[in-house]
Amino acid sequence: MTSVLPEAGLVVAPTSREEAAEVVRRAAAGGRPLILTGNGSQLGTIPLPGVGDWLSSRALDRMVEHEPADLTVTVEAGCTLSSLQAQLSRVGQFFPTDYAAAGTVGGMIATGHAGPLALAHGGVRDRLLGATVITADGAQARTGSRVVKSVAGFDLGKLYCGSYGTLVFIVEATLKVAPLAEAVVHVRWEGPAGTLLDASVGLLNSAHRPQSLVAYSVARESGKPAGTVTVAARYAGRRESIQEMLGHGGSVMGSPAAVTSDPSAGWAETSAIATDGGDIMILDLPPSCAPEMLRSAETDDLDAMVDLGTGQALVRGDAIPPRCVDILWRLAAEGGGTMRRRDAAGIVTWKRAGDPAARQVMLALKNAFDPDDLFNRGLAEQML
Ligand SMILES: Cc1cc2nc3c(=O)[nH]c(=O)nc-3n(C[C@H](O)[C@H](O)[C@H](O)COP(=O)(O)OP(=O)(O)OC[C@H]3O[C@@H](n4cnc5c(N)ncnc54)[C@H](O)[C@@H]3O)c2cc1C
Repeated sequence: MTSVLPEAGLVVAPTSREEAAEVVRRAAAGGRPLILTGNGSQLGTIPLPGVGDWLSSRALDRMVEHEPADLTVTVEAGCTLSSLQAQLSRVGQFFPTDYAAAGTVGGMIATGHAGPLALAHGGVRDRLLGATVITADGAQARTGSRVVKSVAGFDLGKLYCGSYGTLVFIVEATLKVAPLAEAVVHVRWEGPAGTLLDASVGLLNSAHRPQSLVAYSVARESGKPAGTVTVAARYAGRRESIQEMLGHGGSVMGSPAAVTSDPSAGWAETSAIATDGGDIMILDLPPSCAPEMLRSAETDDLDAMVDLGTGQALVRGDAIPPRCVDILWRLAAEGGGTMRRRDAAGIVTWKRAGDPAARQVMLALKNAFDPDDLFNRGLAEQML
């Protein structure tokens, strides 16, 4: 996504927690709101506050502690996901997340996204063990621990996941990492949506299920019969067990169109869908809505992608017709999900289905954390 960060000189990027706390204290004293960011990779899809000074975690980018034997790592929040993965890979480990190389760890926590690998590894909520944050009065607060099973007090870290910079400025995080698999194989099946999506349910409910399973259709692809989808699976593990899983996948889904160990080939079309520009909607749906969502997108000549494990979906085209927007919103709302849209003119809108009473609890929480709405002013009202 396009970064809408202003030029570097207009963004304050502290190099220590103390400096970050001082920036927040000064802003609070002056009643001047702050727009929180990491590297700005997601800002194009967030209804940003119109006022405030920019505060970025990007210069807080050190690895603080890595305990390979405990499968834990503590990093500053501005560490990019690509640099984290590069450091972990030296000891045969990784943090289970997909794409988004430019994004920061703090941004990943604040957006709370879960990519397709969440099917096998859980999302960031499941892997955040602890966090250090700067609160709206400029205090440093550490929550959680470096052990996986900590039961002391409320799990504040989970609150920060998906808070979009409305509660605290995250400066450090302790994450649970995972060992890299001996081998990774990407498989693609192509065929009629009804048949393949039905079979996918069987694959997901089997002991041989893949690490991730995504269905997509690209409107611009010519020569394919109407109603054709591609289902892409990623298998990881020991080489011999992958062979067994591939055999099972073939028996459930039929002959694959491609089998490769090259991740870029395995996911090539999906990155074409997730490109910038045009009219984009990002939705959280119950995975069982995938057939209707893909059908609706195809009817309107749109590219569409849905993670069959988590239900995260993306629809893209030159202009998404109102009829399709209504269908997609109904599907998201039925499952209590969310819908984010950035239309071709760059206007960003968010909708969230949910219980009004729960919304009041969330707004009260926002008020308890940040009574003057210092962080990302106005965003909590819009997104909750
Ligand atoms: C195609 C794609 C795939 C993705 N896949 C995955 C995935 O598989 N798993 C996964 O976990 N994530 C995934 N993400 C999300 C990604 O990890 C995050 O969006 C990214 O890390 C954002 O980092 P950023 O620094 O650019 O955030 P920004 O764009 O700068 O900010 C995003 C939001 O986070 C807030 N924020 C940023 N930094 C902080 C901070 N330090 N403290 C408080 N608030 C902050 C901002 O206010 C803003 O609301 C994906 C994103 C994309 C585009």
